[in-house]
Amino acid sequence: MKLATIGVGNAGSKLIDQMIEFEFETGRNLCRHALVINTARTDLAKPQHIDEDRRVLIGDTHRKARGHGVGGDAEIGAEVAKTDIDEIRRVFDDVEIHEVDAVLVAAGLGGGTGSGAAPVVIDELQKMYDEPIYGLGVLPGTYEGGRPALNAARSLQSFVNKVDNFIAFDNDAWRSRGQTIEQGYEEMNEELATRIVTLLAAGEVDESEVGENAMDSSDIMRTLDTGGVSSIGYASTDVSVTKEGLLAKFNESEEVQSESTDAAKIKGLVRRATNSRLTVPCDVSSADRALIVFAGPPDVISRKGVESAREWLEQEADTVDVLAGDDPRPDSSTLAAVVLLSNVTDTPRISEIQNQAVDAQNKIQQQDAVREEEIQSLITDDDNDLDPIV
Ligand code: GDP
Repeated sequence: MKLATIGVGNAGSKLIDQMIEFEFETGRNLCRHALVINTARTDLAKPQHIDEDRRVLIGDTHRKARGHGVGGDAEIGAEVAKTDIDEIRRVFDDVEIHEVDAVLVAAGLGGGTGSGAAPVVIDELQKMYDEPIYGLGVLPGTYEGGRPALNAARSLQSFVNKVDNFIAFDNDAWRSRGQTIEQGYEEMNEELATRIVTLLAAGEVDESEVGENAMDSSDIMRTLDTGGVSSIGYASTDVSVTKEGLLAKFNESEEVQSESTDAAKIKGLVRRATNSRLTVPCDVSSADRALIVFAGPPDVISRKGVESAREWLEQEADTVDVLAGDDPRPDSSTLAAVVLLSNVTDTPRISEIQNQAVDAQNKIQQQDAVREEEIQSLITDDDNDLDPIV
């Protein structure tokens, strides 16, 4: 697939940057256009692979932003995006939309810029283009507290209602102990970029390498065409191929594998991808459609294995809509399986975030109600004998 990618806010921009880095490292070709939008000048300077003229600062004239961010306030994030929509549109105008199959908008949903401005950006994209728009959104961890949960629960509604598919990543599930938050984010961003790029870049292979089992962009787009929230699983293994083209090493085993053992290993890889940590934990059987991409040297992808892996996933996901195909990478020393579970409706983290958000909203409303009363009580003397000067 060929994508135009847009990162909104800090996390969204870092994710797009990381996707481009993974593309470069692995010789893939997915992101044809990349731009980032932010309210904070310092965050806008962070990406390493985005051209200067593809970085858009919004809200620099807004009295509550002024180039320093929106302080986690999603309402201000949305407001400044609306105010500066001409600026955003001007940068979109340079995107050669006929060169891409779809647009991907990435954002962290717990902050103010990504959660508030991204839905406004998506509205604008929809007015301008007919191409599908996919969302890539990071759900905040429980440990971040009530405000990020409230931003995320509200932004999720806007995102899912507006995009053709929303791919979710859950910071809670991917948090590991013994790391600083920044180290944790770096690792998470790499994991997410690996999954997204391995999945969406399939179908962009050199004409000479296209076999009849090659995954096509239209298969991926059809699987994403369900709307709703999607989750991705991934597993990989080292492979190396002997001169005769036989699979010599697959999971550290030295002996030459028989066809049936290779098939079992392909199925095992898909099973591992599906049962591993998904980008957002979910009940696999609640998926509407599913798709498997095998990225690696074509010689090690056993057809029998692909078929039995596909059948296995069909049962697990409890759907007849399961596609499987290859992304041939003759020079790669790994074989990866990416599993896309499209429109998963049973994702406990989303309910948890909503509950945390409702509690936070109630608390904020209560605080707002008593705030003015408390301030007046503080500045008024006991018998109300004093008057303000003006
Ligand atoms: P914004 O710029 O106002 O949209 O806010 P940020 O993008 O800095 O943060 C929004 C949310 O994204 C936070 O609440 C975190 O949950 C998450 N977040 C921030 N940075 C990263 C990152 O690098 N990786 C991941 N996975 N999540 C992040």
